[in-house]
Amino acid sequence: MQKYDVIAIGMGPGAIFMAYELLNLKSNKKVLLIEQGKRVEERTCPIEKIGKCVKCKPFCNITSGFSGAGAFSDGKLSLYNKEDEDFYVGGNLHKYIGVEETKKLIDYTDSIYLKFGADTKLEGIEYKEEVSKIKNKAKKEGLTLIDIPIRHLGTEKAHELYKKLEDYLEDAGVNLMFNTTVTDLVIEEGTAKGVKVRKSGTNDEEEIIYADNVIVAVGRKGANWLVNMCEKHDIKTEAGIVDIGVRYELSDKVMEKINKYMYEGKFIGRPSPFKDKVRTFCQNPSGFVSSEVYDNNLSLVNGHSYKDRKSTNTNLAILVSHHFNYPFSKPIEYGRNIAQNLNELGNGNIVVQRLGDIYRGKRTWEEELEKNPIKPTLKSAVAGDITFALGYRTMTDILAFIRDMDKIVEGFANPENLLYAPEIKFYSNQVVIDRNFETNIKGLYSIGDGGGMTRGLMMASASGVEMARILDKKKNN
Ligand SMILES: Cc1cc2nc3c(=O)[nH]c(=O)nc-3n(C[C@H](O)[C@H](O)[C@H](O)COP(=O)(O)OP(=O)(O)OC[C@H]3O[C@@H](n4cnc5c(N)ncnc54)[C@H](O)[C@@H]3O)c2cc1C
Repeated sequence: MQKYDVIAIGMGPGAIFMAYELLNLKSNKKVLLIEQGKRVEERTCPIEKIGKCVKCKPFCNITSGFSGAGAFSDGKLSLYNKEDEDFYVGGNLHKYIGVEETKKLIDYTDSIYLKFGADTKLEGIEYKEEVSKIKNKAKKEGLTLIDIPIRHLGTEKAHELYKKLEDYLEDAGVNLMFNTTVTDLVIEEGTAKGVKVRKSGTNDEEEIIYADNVIVAVGRKGANWLVNMCEKHDIKTEAGIVDIGVRYELSDKVMEKINKYMYEGKFIGRPSPFKDKVRTFCQNPSGFVSSEVYDNNLSLVNGHSYKDRKSTNTNLAILVSHHFNYPFSKPIEYGRNIAQNLNELGNGNIVVQRLGDIYRGKRTWEEELEKNPIKPTLKSAVAGDITFALGYRTMTDILAFIRDMDKIVEGFANPENLLYAPEIKFYSNQVVIDRNFETNIKGLYSIGDGGGMTRGLMMASASGVEMARILDKKKNN
């Protein structure tokens, strides 16, 4: 019988930083991380070479494998301002451990990233006066600009950094099990006893691996699986949200000041008439739009940028947060239906449309895209009409937000700008956890993006560090 002190499901930043900190604390625990995807050095996305998404089997290399969604991320580590009394991006870790503790944790987690090779340069701290002017301008338009320092790894450097972490953990004796899917949790009398696993992409017989502590760190990729687990095992959840929107691509020239002063401008608005929260997210100066595949072959759009390879376009997400409670409370299902419709409209691909065509009430045609001043950086995207599927409320929110942004950044609403869809951020229904990240099932914990606690690299990593400290203290009690 295989038995561990700690099993983490998933090998994203959450699980990696938990394992790192357990080593650092010399906690002497037998740790196993289980990942459905591949080692980081084996992860490649064919789209780079052949220009289209081939829907890799059994799992998309962008979202699965060592370092999870972090491997192909743009690697923007969101830090904080010392004077801030709250956290406005990255998730809700501070709601569990407090703002001051989260700041300390982020400092520490950042120091680990630096130790493994992150760029020492911080973006967004040099041009305080200019940023303040943009902030005031935004305020007049009813938008909030969150300016926090950012450490930018860049996609290719993120790969190198995570490879070093992979080697470090393995050399130090952490057990890494790849190409293995956790199919179920083993729970007896309200206590987690272990997990059931199977070789990824096969119908092989399931095997049980036992552990005293099971950490769910499945990221957005595992959000749907986690919903099923919660239903099956009566794990308590609260209604969550789904973020639905587009990836917006425009000229670097239009975004010149924002890119220079902040690298990433995080704008938040609540446009009329719905007053939904609409925000920009994951801005990539001189970047590339990318696609990723989720469960049931759903293609979603995303974006990233390299340290060295550059385009002449900036891309960013414009996301609308949707809450549901009664009588429908299935945000993941709502998002999946929208994604499915959009995928069908694009014949399995991401759909792209010019902003001007949306205003004119027409689809975009391939020939028009070829002549468009903004050339799409996602070559596999299919020209079409996203308004058929995005929903009136989401579309209205996005267009109003773009109009508001244009008053702050001239050219933000240029008709040649491109909207790719679907960009959707799935979170599980929020898993109910206590201060120790423990669910109502004894010995079952939830960290990172999957259970809805975090929404970005830094907070997901920091939640892993804190998890390790909690487990270490448990040993000492
Ligand atoms: C293209 C892209 C760009 C991004 N850019 C940024 C950025 O610049 N800045 C930022 O802060 N964030 C960015 N993000 C988001 C960031 O990557 C995530 O917030 C972060 O990786 C979450 O970490 P995590 O550990 O919670 O989960 P993940 O990194 O998602 O890892 C979860 C892992 O669990 C595995 N898994 C799931 N279910 C199972 C199962 N049943 N059995 C076994 N394994 C399982 C998955 O395969 C995955 O590898 C980006 C994401 C993408 C995709």
